[in-house]
Amino acid sequence: MAQAYIGLGANLGQARATLERAAGELAQTPGIHDLQLSHFYRTAPIDSGGPDYVNAVAGLHTTLSPFELLDVLQAIELAHGRLRPYRNAPRTLDLDLLLYGDQIIDTPRLIVPHPRMHERAFVLEPLHDLAAGLELAQGSLEKLLSQCEGQRLHRLP
Ligand code: AMP
Repeated sequence: MAQAYIGLGANLGQARATLERAAGELAQTPGIHDLQLSHFYRTAPIDSGGPDYVNAVAGLHTTLSPFELLDVLQAIELAHGRLRPYRNAPRTLDLDLLLYGDQIIDTPRLIVPHPRMHERAFVLEPLHDLAAGLELAQGSLEKLLSQCEGQRLHRLP
């Protein structure tokens, strides 16, 4: 089974409740096991407009392939009424496949590791909750987080 990490984000509607429901739906998907959820964080939008985001990361074990997992993520996004009126529009739910074991995937539909995760505190901080010792190609989570100073992020109780 592969260890995968999923980034969850929302900035419209009841953002935290949406992320909790999405994580529950993921946990109940056949082929997904042992889902663990990070803390929730309130974060300033980056490359996107609208209100603050709520972000979290889920770690899981899966027998699904990376593309099957992406299908599941996109189905859950759609079920939560995500609209894509324009690139980087505010969203009710955004689910990204961050890491899938140590696989490197570079296709038009799926890029893993997620190409911008190493420079985003809203991914690195919740990922650190689950896997403090993890090393990305660009370095340790601590080192990468130290390079994200200035990105506003607040852990929710
Ligand atoms: P976004 O609107 O930022 O959620 O991007 C969604 C698009 O990114 C979809 O067309 C996906 O096929 C594509 N994509 C590429 N790599 C990934 C990834 N690692 N996780 C999720 N979506 C991805």
